[in-house]
Formats: sequence, C-alpha cells, structure tokens
Amino acid sequence: MVLLITNNQFLFKNPKENNMEEQQISQKVNQEVFNLLKKIDPLFFEENRLLTFKSWVFKDNKPCSAQKLAEAGFIFYGTKQDPDTVKCFFCDKTLDGWEEMDCPWSEHESHAPYCNYAKLRTSNLRVEDYINLRKELLIKIKNKFVEDKKIESEEALEEILDEMET
Ligand SMILES: [Zn+2]
Repeated sequence: MVLLITNNQFLFKNPKENNMEEQQISQKVNQEVFNLLKKIDPLFFEENRLLTFKSWVFKDNKPCSAQKLAEAGFIFYGTKQDPDTVKCFFCDKTLDGWEEMDCPWSEHESHAPYCNYAKLRTSNLRVEDYINLRKELLIKIKNKFVEDKKIESEEALEEILDEMET
C-alpha cells in the first residue's frame, strides 16, 4: 500500500474497496499523519508555500503564476526593490527576473540541477519521496550545525591565543 501526500489529503493507493473498516482506519491515519506533517514541515505543502505570495507580478492564468511557482517548490522572497524574487524551500536557490511565459519547474531544474525536489516534477509527494527529501534536509542542517560549531571553536581558540600573547 502506498501513501500519497497530496495538497488536501493523504491517499492510500489501494485500500480494499469493499472493506469499510479498513477504509475508515486508513482515512483516520491519513488525516493524523497529514496534520502532524503540516505542523512540523509546513513548507513541504504547496498551499503553505502559496500563502507566502501576498501579491505576484503575473496573473493566475499565466504559466509563471504564484500557484505554479508554489507548486515548483518556491516561496515568495521578494522585496519592494525586487518584487519577483523567489526561493526554493528545499535547496534555498533564489531566482528572479521571471517572465510570464516561464515554466517554474524548468527554470528550477536548469538553475538548480542538484535540487532533488525539482527533479520530482510534482508537488504530490509519496511518503518515500517525503522521507528521502527530509533525510537530505536533516543531513544539510546537521552539516551546517557542525560547520558553525567548528567556526565557533576556531574563533574561541584565536581569542585564547590572543589573550596569551598580551
Ligand atoms: Zn530547489
């Protein structure tokens, strides 16, 4: 059985259609897991990314609409001076200079070919996709933490050496 995370619900791909009890249980589990993930990982959900776009330079019916950008993993990252800057929630790539006929997925992939979210080409994540992306994100956070700590300890060491010299 595959669990799908869509924007509005989780779907078990094949709960037995004739088994009401199994369907009810899977619906309940789906809802619980969905609510939990939404709380801990809001930006994994397209609708939450879309909420970051209070306004956007192109209309909703254009290929480069706020909706399509949110689907392709982007959150609004603009300012008054740069009203069309967006950032990928997953790889942190920022992009601007959009044209209304741009395809956000294609732009994302060509400017950040390393982004495993962009490679999926869908915002309907399967649980395996979610777990893989989440794992990668956790490793990134851990490495950054280790890096920061290293810098902190190097700075501390320099301070001690400075004090010893004076
Ligand atoms: Zn990305």
